Amino acid sequence: MTAIKVKDKDFAPLIGETELAQRMDELAAELTEAYADKRPLFVAILNGAFIFAADLLRRLNFPHEISFVKVSSYHGTASTGRVKELIGISENLDGRHIIILDDILETGRTLSSVLRMLELSKPATVKICTLLIKDVGVSPEVPADYCGFRIANRFVVGYGLDYDGWGRSFPEIYAEEEGQE
Ligand code: 5GP
Ligand code: MG
Repeated sequence: MTAIKVKDKDFAPLIGETELAQRMDELAAELTEAYADKRPLFVAILNGAFIFAADLLRRLNFPHEISFVKVSSYHGTASTGRVKELIGISENLDGRHIIILDDILETGRTLSSVLRMLELSKPATVKICTLLIKDVGVSPEVPADYCGFRIANRFVVGYGLDYDGWGRSFPEIYAEEEGQE
């Protein structure tokens, strides 16, 4: 893996394809143990979780559904602090076992607002599964029940994550080089 440029910023390799694939296998095994007989509904958060969701769910050999919600809170490389719901959920969640899939948990603002939105329709259980947890020094508003990797407080792109809309399709994860502000 070599360094990449997305728009005006340079990024260095952080998590490679092999490591990602191996961790997806492990997460799939954990989810199988917990949900094999529960016919869960996965709710992936667009846009960032689309590759994570596709890679993870193709490893599951038990009945499950997948749906999507779309929210937005980021502009450039900083959170705006406000979460807008752009596409909501249309499935009936009553009595269902829900697993929310997101790309990265930082303050937890995004996930706690999605969680509140889903809980309005009385699911049996709701758990959170996030590809990354970013260590920003304070604990997030909501805990992650399942997590792929913990990372330091750096802005990352690739494997679904973007910088201003660009860089989502890289098959591995890259972190912004320090000192570019
Ligand atoms: P939170 O609401 O937990 O503070 O932020 C989580 C959301 O912000 C994620 O769903 C993701 O869309 C975005 N985000 C947070 N950190 C990063 C990052 O390092 N890179 C990218 N591309 N998005 C991030
Ligand atoms: Mg996101």
